[in-house]
Amino acid sequence: MSADTNTTTIQTDSIYLDNAASTPLLNEVFLEMMPYLRTHYGNPSSLHKHGFDAKRAISLGRRRVASIIGASDKEIVFTSGGTESNNLAIKGAATECRSRDSKRTHLITSKIEHESVLEPFRELEKDGFEVTYLPVSNEGIVNADDLKEYLSGSKTAFVSVMLVNNEVGTIQPVKEIANILRMTSKEILFHCDATQGVGKIPINVQALGVDLLTISSHKINGPKGAGALYVRRGVRINPLLLGGGQEALLRSGTENVYGIVGFGKACEINLLNIANNEREISIIRNHLVKKILKDIPDARYNGSRIHRIPNNAHFTISGVNGEDLVMKLDEYGIAASTGSACSSRKQKSSHVLKAMGFSYDEITGSLRISIGSQNTIQQMDRFAMILSQVIKELRKFSPITHQL
Ligand code: PMP
Repeated sequence: MSADTNTTTIQTDSIYLDNAASTPLLNEVFLEMMPYLRTHYGNPSSLHKHGFDAKRAISLGRRRVASIIGASDKEIVFTSGGTESNNLAIKGAATECRSRDSKRTHLITSKIEHESVLEPFRELEKDGFEVTYLPVSNEGIVNADDLKEYLSGSKTAFVSVMLVNNEVGTIQPVKEIANILRMTSKEILFHCDATQGVGKIPINVQALGVDLLTISSHKINGPKGAGALYVRRGVRINPLLLGGGQEALLRSGTENVYGIVGFGKACEINLLNIANNEREISIIRNHLVKKILKDIPDARYNGSRIHRIPNNAHFTISGVNGEDLVMKLDEYGIAASTGSACSSRKQKSSHVLKAMGFSYDEITGSLRISIGSQNTIQQMDRFAMILSQVIKELRKFSPITHQL
């Protein structure tokens, strides 16, 4: 495309660069799920062949999900996704701790968590808990030492810090936080939302030192509507859903059998490919970052260059409104994001970038690219070229001052 190509020329070859929001379902995953939509329709709790088939499928799914995080099968509780796992972990742990010891009402999380973590904490505040929100550096990383300042051995019940931030891709010092917690008190439960980390970087719950960990299926090429909460053996939390007592009493309701089957298969494939994907996706990402920083004046690369997952690239493009940019890219068949998909629908400005000290204009001009195993270097070249063109056009009409 030449520099003066009219933007009304719509491209048909689409490029999907929003893999942090959701990922395409792998064909192998789809094929494994199919029989559980029609042929194996039994209820896993039933005492006949149809029920046993479904139960066996859940057991295999459980083993595969446990393997990707180095857990044992019995430590996996299936849920409907990352949001439910976070709610279960946070509300379940906080209320259980308080019911055992009424003085344990202090909770800690960070300012850059996903809304499915922050909202339950806000609700617990209304219910009498006191919550500390840890600050982050301008690279978007929690300082584990800050925790020492806020911890109270007798009052703090629960801490939740994410493994990977969904907007800027930064990896948080979860292991260091776990070490500090263990030195302070054996009573404090530690939860980690690993929704954006699983399948991107190797994860072992023993090495991380967490008690509870959240996983979501649709972020790793599995189906939507399936997820899991790792609950370390011996850890007690209250359930959110009551009823038939499925999932060791922690999540009542007939299991999402085909979802669990697909989720398990996605975990198996991701575990096999993680090293390869990590290497190849970071090569593609680094190629794109280099190109954007070279070709687009006043583009800034945000977050950490070192403590970052391989598939995330986050930019501030001055003089451009991120939402206009994303919509214009969509006309060319390119799917990108300004930040998290959940916040963009609510039209809220990013609490993550705010916590990193960004100004209003910097937040407005944000663009998140999240790469998947289906993307190629050639796609990055085409994307960078279209991006450059679209930005030039938007800057021409932008009310936001842009000085080159
Ligand atoms: N936590 C993080 C960090 C996320 O990125 C997301 C999804 N945007 C969630 C939790 C929620 O996961 P789900 O979509 O499976 O409910």
